[in-house]
Amino acid sequence: MNYISTRGTAPELGFEDVLLTGLARDGGLYVPAAWPDLSAGDIKAFASLPYHAVATRVMAPFADGIAPDAFADIVRTTYDGFDHHSVAPLRQLGPNEWLLELFHGPTLAFKDVAMQLLARLFEHVLARRSQRLTIVGATSGDTGAAAIEAFRDRAGIDVVILHPLDRVSEVQRRQMTTVTAANVHNIAVRGTFDDCQALLKMMFNDIAFRDEIALSAVNSINWARVLPQAVYYLTAAAALGAPDRPVAFCVPTGNFGDVYAGYVAAAMGLPVARLVVATNRNDILHRFFQTGEYRVDEVHATQSPSMDIQVASNFERLLFDLVGRDGAAVSALMRDLSAAGGFAVDAARLANTRARFDSGRADEAETTAMIGRVHAETGLLLDPHTAVGLAAARDRAPDDTPVVVLGTAHPAKFPDAVEKATGRRPDLPARLADLYDRAERYDVLPNDLAAIQAHIRGLVGGKA
Ligand SMILES: *Cc1c(COP(=O)(O)O)cnc(C)c1O
Repeated sequence: MNYISTRGTAPELGFEDVLLTGLARDGGLYVPAAWPDLSAGDIKAFASLPYHAVATRVMAPFADGIAPDAFADIVRTTYDGFDHHSVAPLRQLGPNEWLLELFHGPTLAFKDVAMQLLARLFEHVLARRSQRLTIVGATSGDTGAAAIEAFRDRAGIDVVILHPLDRVSEVQRRQMTTVTAANVHNIAVRGTFDDCQALLKMMFNDIAFRDEIALSAVNSINWARVLPQAVYYLTAAAALGAPDRPVAFCVPTGNFGDVYAGYVAAAMGLPVARLVVATNRNDILHRFFQTGEYRVDEVHATQSPSMDIQVASNFERLLFDLVGRDGAAVSALMRDLSAAGGFAVDAARLANTRARFDSGRADEAETTAMIGRVHAETGLLLDPHTAVGLAAARDRAPDDTPVVVLGTAHPAKFPDAVEKATGRRPDLPARLADLYDRAERYDVLPNDLAAIQAHIRGLVGGKA
């Protein structure tokens, strides 16, 4: 499989290079040059296969640079590390309503599903190429924890994560700072998440620094972060009767990576009744799917912080298909976005996307009310991101299509929001029960590029 850039001018690359590169050199995102097909028989068979076998079957055509046996092994060991035997179990909430639990990985959010695999693939490819890399990331919480847990102790890779000092939750901070592996480095920046992201961008733009430490990134624009997420749409739908019965999905959305993975499953042949994009009050995507206008607004802090995003980076991948895979057209829209703060698509294109997508939005009060209602009805505790998804699902007139809401985080990851809504403080799962007793390790640095670069050179200098 070759990959092409959404902006049309970067070179085509194979899977391994797309994995290590992340962002394309023309500023675009890599997408597969074509969609491999799954037959109805393939999809039907998924209902009786273990998760790792479905994952291998679905992803292998995209990862054809990697030896098939090695790939199957890597996928199997990845999902052995999840603490539920079916990896992504379905729980019934109502007659036609299901919760897809994606939080049984080591850091209790769905990001583990892709990040755990990504780290193993990096290690495998770097070993074959006798290369090493430094991964630097900025996080508002979940991504940093998932990356640190996935990359700890992996050969050939150092991981440096910047988080804003005192601006992530205590669970999130401890998940990052209590990992003592020698290749893990936490930096708390005296600034905001936006400052951390700006620092990261400046490091990528400093070509000499970038080459010196062999800088790489694992944010959600990396194709290998998206692909593994297509798998659970297929396992869930097959369990509910696909391909004979179409299924709808409702997806708590921030950067549009997770819901785009549902689009990938559909592009491969899964009958999907609809993909509902659920946002909190940071609702640029909801406004787009309702009006065709994509316009940047201010970012508001909410109790579902992993969705507090205005520009949804993976949305560019959908736009690329929407304009007929015309890289020049995507580049023009992206220029409008940065110069004028937005763009609009015409009515025909909007109708085209609405054939597959719909959207919904829940504000803070609705989110809290939904957590409380589900607890009262079923005794179940929902995390606030998942509650946004369920609120959007229940906003639609019910029909006889089964609806699957993606459960993106474990409630214990956001205990304050859950306690506020239900009066109950969720317990951490056994594997993290002693999180509050573990020693923390991190460095506090000023919001200053030179200071942070010097620090990183000190950590990894001379290795690359
Ligand atoms: C990252 C995240 C999301 C948003 O996912 P995207 O792929 O960015 O749309 C939703 N919920 C939780 C808990 C997350 O960590």
